[in-house]
Amino acid sequence: MATPVLFDVHGGRRDPQQPLLHFDDLAVVRGDGIFETLLVRDGQVCNLARHLARFRDGAARMDLPKPAMAAWDSTINAAAVAWSLANGDVEGQMRLVYTRGRESAPADHDAPERTTALVMISEVRSSVAQSRADGVAVCLLDRGYTVDFGARAPWQLIGAKTLSYAANMAALRHAVAAGFDDVIYTSSDGQVLEGPRSSVVAVTGRTLRTPPVESGILPGTTVAALFAAAREEGWDAEYARLPPADLLAADSVWMCSSVTIAARVTRIDDDELLLDEQTGAAAAEFAELASRAIAVA
Ligand code: PLP
Repeated sequence: MATPVLFDVHGGRRDPQQPLLHFDDLAVVRGDGIFETLLVRDGQVCNLARHLARFRDGAARMDLPKPAMAAWDSTINAAAVAWSLANGDVEGQMRLVYTRGRESAPADHDAPERTTALVMISEVRSSVAQSRADGVAVCLLDRGYTVDFGARAPWQLIGAKTLSYAANMAALRHAVAAGFDDVIYTSSDGQVLEGPRSSVVAVTGRTLRTPPVESGILPGTTVAALFAAAREEGWDAEYARLPPADLLAADSVWMCSSVTIAARVTRIDDDELLLDEQTGAAAAEFAELASRAIAVA
């Protein structure tokens, strides 16, 4: 068992076994905050610059105090070093958590220190290795809104990485109860959106396709890194609408996210997604590309 690591950006290293949050932290009572999940591999925090950019954007969208990025940077570094010292090259899952702080604190939007700001690293769950190796069976679930909903209702924070993930966790439980491993959300106007914890990528030949961020999904950092690396290596990579039928027609379909990196979809509802010799070789090449891509900061 790896030793978890916990740092308070305002207050230094903490004992992960001791209670930490105040009873009226707005994350506890409202889910009012943002988070990021990153992979720590060989002591390095993967794809960090893209995560920090999304983190700053998320804080701005939610009117959180502007995060003190120098303090975040040095705390992230200290946590990665502490993780490596304690656990060697065991893969870690790092979380950045930033909340609006205590409900009872005087409202002062310019004070980042009245927020709760945490960096934690724990061992990557064993199911991650299984998803990478064996892939995942997914069901399509209707998310209940159209692709333009986020633009029509910005107060809904569609596509922000807020701490309010209860509905996503409920979707995953629904899938597991029906015998699946994961979910692909569709819009009510019939487009593929994303998974509750991942972006969807369809691979056909040497072309990668993922739905546009404007369709009300989280801008995935893994997909961004993957697409940049893919283009450099001569693949085409496009953000374009993706109807569910195109998933079944693709050579392979992937759930991409920071910790798992890429898990191949082996079944969508009742349809098996099989590989032959050629698509199997392309799938292996894709998985390798994805794993390389996220190493770049
Ligand atoms: N979409 C959602 C809803 C997510 O929660 C995540 C990651 O947790 C992703 C997509 C993939 O994002 P990333 O590649 O930055 O991990």
